[in-house]
Amino acid sequence: MQNIKEDGDAVETWLESKHLTLIHDAKLPKSFHSARWKQGYNPDLVCVSSELASRAVKEVLDPIPHSQHRPITITIRSVLQATTVPFRRRFNLRKADWLLYQQEIEDSIPSIPPHPNSYTTFTDLLKRSARRHIPRGCQTEYIPGLSETSSDLLQAYHTAYHEDPFSSTTTELGEILLNKVGEDRRQVWKELIENTNMTNNSRKAWATIRRLGADHTTPPTLTTVTANSVAAQLVLNGRSQTRRRPTGEYRRTAVSDHPQPASALTKPFDPEELEAALCLLKPGKAAGIDDVLAEMIQHLGPKAKSWLLEMLNSSFIDLTAAYDTVQHRAMIRKLLDMTGDLDLCQVIKSLLNNRRFFVQLNDKKSKWKAQKNGLPQGSVLAPLLFNIYTNDQPLPPQCRRFIYADDLCITTQQESFHKIEPVLESALQEMSTYYNNNHLKPNPSKTQLCSFHLKNRDAGKELNISWDGHKLLNHPHPVYLGVTLDRTLSFKTHLQNTKAKVNTRNNILRKLVNSKWGADPPTIRATALALCFSTAEYACSSWSRSHHTKLVDTALNDTCRIITGCIKTTPVPCLYALAGIAPPHTRRSIVARDERRAQESDMRHPLYGHTAPPSRLKSRASFLHTVPPLQSTKETARTNIWRVEWHQLNTRAQEWMERGITPTECLASGHDLPWPTWKTLNRLRVEQGRCKALLKTWNYHTEDTCGCGAVQTMSHLLECDDAPQCSPQDLAEPTPSAVSCARYWQNDI
Ligand SMILES: [Zn+2]
Repeated sequence: MQNIKEDGDAVETWLESKHLTLIHDAKLPKSFHSARWKQGYNPDLVCVSSELASRAVKEVLDPIPHSQHRPITITIRSVLQATTVPFRRRFNLRKADWLLYQQEIEDSIPSIPPHPNSYTTFTDLLKRSARRHIPRGCQTEYIPGLSETSSDLLQAYHTAYHEDPFSSTTTELGEILLNKVGEDRRQVWKELIENTNMTNNSRKAWATIRRLGADHTTPPTLTTVTANSVAAQLVLNGRSQTRRRPTGEYRRTAVSDHPQPASALTKPFDPEELEAALCLLKPGKAAGIDDVLAEMIQHLGPKAKSWLLEMLNSSFIDLTAAYDTVQHRAMIRKLLDMTGDLDLCQVIKSLLNNRRFFVQLNDKKSKWKAQKNGLPQGSVLAPLLFNIYTNDQPLPPQCRRFIYADDLCITTQQESFHKIEPVLESALQEMSTYYNNNHLKPNPSKTQLCSFHLKNRDAGKELNISWDGHKLLNHPHPVYLGVTLDRTLSFKTHLQNTKAKVNTRNNILRKLVNSKWGADPPTIRATALALCFSTAEYACSSWSRSHHTKLVDTALNDTCRIITGCIKTTPVPCLYALAGIAPPHTRRSIVARDERRAQESDMRHPLYGHTAPPSRLKSRASFLHTVPPLQSTKETARTNIWRVEWHQLNTRAQEWMERGITPTECLASGHDLPWPTWKTLNRLRVEQGRCKALLKTWNYHTEDTCGCGAVQTMSHLLECDDAPQCSPQDLAEPTPSAVSCARYWQNDI
């Protein structure tokens, strides 16, 4: 195992020294299948020169008959690929004539009575005017970020590309074209970084990279199910098998028990509220079921707005419908018990009733189905309603429970396996009764069991517990709220998973650095913090004392190498100082201290007022025992710890600081330079790069003499007679002489 890792490192350094990039996609099938070991391998490595990396696509074809090999193809595509979309007419809102649109609606609105029944007439009017005054169309093939000047360039590039894709004219034209388009794309990316929170979801980042970048691969779709069968199953899932109560009984008791109080939630809306709601509508979103775009509502005139207001205010009074399903009835009853507000209940009821849906799968639509039970998926109220619905769950004796929405965890602590089994079994029995009474369907096949202990002798021992006649499955690594647990709470599996996640996100970063439009050091750093560091620090106050944190740290070292453009041999403290990000262990300790502060002072914290049981092992101790609450801001605390460690642990700290490598939470100076210059500047600062002396040490070169005749070490690059010279102190600022020195060497090291 050790050998494999060393070999891998050697290959990586060799590639680095030759300006090559490995083209690999872990999702591709293996290119060699060993019949003897019954396993696939990837013995063939494909590399291209780094300039081509972002344009190269590797494909692994079907196996050759009577052979264990699959052929590999590498396609180098043109620098810009057009995006194709299916034909569907869209409104071009930028070219809309909103004045005429508004006028037409203002003229016809008085003839429509402001009542929910005429809502369709209203939307028809909106759509009719929109069709008349907003141009529509669809471009089936387009290049994102292409302006008028760059489309002429594209024309010239295409002509040159068809003559000879690898000629120097083509490459040059491609370079100019990419720079031009890159400017516009960088702007889009910057806006995305500023406007979205990528902490929980990198889908948007990937989507933008796909749209703007050269990656036009679409994931293969393999489905044998039809849209109709999915829809049918969804209806089945919602069906509850419990008895029906006579309709009307509840209604009588409800009305008689609860006199109708006036509530703030049910009074009519006023024009200011409508105006505020219209301001909050997000532009550029897809239309809802009525096909009316947010922009169409926002550009309504005063008459149309007052019509809308009257219609909205009348619709909440006019509610007459029987409770059509059992579960909804129980939901409303609990809500009524809790709030005592019949009007509110009727509003919620109108949200739940008469919901219909269809399923769309690979462009095929299912029939419309009615949703009889359950809460509307994706509604902002659904989680709140679910919490109200399940607020009265019983707490089984001798147990602790943790609830997050529909994710429930029951725990108990006993001296032996035999004592645990009856306790949990009776707890589950109690929950079963509760679920049956509340028309919820427990799913024993999805329920997992896990015992946490440090008796290695009993490592394989399983709990024997049945629930509703099903024997529950023991799972060695259950996942709760995104954290993978294990028997000894060493968090090894969780950290391995986290490492894999960070590595995937590092690949996004690499793409950005390689592409012309993303390579802007501050943008890359912001993206790295949002994509990689947030993932790497999820729930870290629970696992930061694990022995396996170095798994995640190595992935984060890679992240910082990408931000700074430094190579593998760079000292790790320098990476973080140049990237302006405190080292991972420092960041984690501050997160834990902040959590501790919240736990002590914030009443909304789930552990508020909780004292942890005395711990026996230091590595498993709760953060409640191990860290003091945070007193200052997170930024100051991080920088303080970082500075102290910087001077205590590093013998070369002073020397590095003179070269501009300082422990502060911002990018090192020179981050406004173009990417290649910034990268070279950093390599000169840390004295690690592809200079000839180092290449000779790594056995990739036999020569170590520079063009001027001296030995080419990293420090020689600063004082070489053939190149602009500068002192190590010049690198710190960087002065114009340091910048021109870095520019001179940027293609060599
Ligand atoms: Zn020289």
